[in-house]
Amino acid sequence: MDIFKGQNLIEFSEAFKTNQDCRLYLSKVKWEFGYSCRKCEHIGAQKRKDFSRTCNKCSYTESVTSGTLFHKVKFGLRKAFFICFEMATSTKSLSATQMGVRYGVTEKTARLFMHKVREAMKSSETNPIDGNVDIDEFVLGGKEKGKVGRSYDSKKKKTVCAVQLSDSGKVKRMYAMKIDDFSAQSLVKIFDKHIDQKAKVRTDQWKGYRPLFKNYNITQIPSDHGGNFKALHTMIHQIKSWIRTTYSWVSEFNIDRYYNEFCYRINRSQSKKTIFNNLIVRMVQADKINQHQIVCA
Ligand SMILES: [Zn+2]
Repeated sequence: MDIFKGQNLIEFSEAFKTNQDCRLYLSKVKWEFGYSCRKCEHIGAQKRKDFSRTCNKCSYTESVTSGTLFHKVKFGLRKAFFICFEMATSTKSLSATQMGVRYGVTEKTARLFMHKVREAMKSSETNPIDGNVDIDEFVLGGKEKGKVGRSYDSKKKKTVCAVQLSDSGKVKRMYAMKIDDFSAQSLVKIFDKHIDQKAKVRTDQWKGYRPLFKNYNITQIPSDHGGNFKALHTMIHQIKSWIRTTYSWVSEFNIDRYYNEFCYRINRSQSKKTIFNNLIVRMVQADKINQHQIVCA
């Protein structure tokens, strides 16, 4: 299929003039590798005008949005596509308030849909980072953490962050996730999800990493106030100022979703040309998530 490429907003609005254009695009993504009925697995179907398909055997009709994160979008697929484009291609994206104003939907509607997009941006966890990896923790909504013992202040949102570095010390990939505290049991979570056991990991001299020595190749060096982890600390600074300036406040419950969004864009900065299509494929493949999973807590 012809996928949409690039970051040009004029070209994008030409490619997606109507909701019907978006439905056609979704149908191509959804059935790129062929149709099979979700009820009876029959492979023959009638195509309908809205690009949904009706099974020739059991007559079940599947819309292009059913089973995708576009399911039950009430404000029109075209607006949904534009919000996806904005979130995938702009460096910092927009707050829900700004997005609502720009696309003529309420702030609440924008926020809910944007969380669905963040869900699609979540790492598949199938491609852990290896090579040279630096890891450190930080807190949101407070001063820089003091290196003399980690702050256990329960009000601050604690995060562990890992970057994979190129030979020249540039950030290739990045992951961040919320943790309850700075103990080994909490820190190990980012290792389990995102770090290859063969990776050469560097951390500062925090004792919480020591129990992980037996399973991972970890070298501890003095932080020198972040000077020994420059690229990592630049990313930490960016993610913190992005959250502070774009969102001002994010709930503990949703914080990982914002990290997903930030890291998704960083990790695809080399493939910006196809990033919109990549996001649409993820939106189509992702399991439908219910509204209550987004708004609770
Ligand atoms: Zn069927």
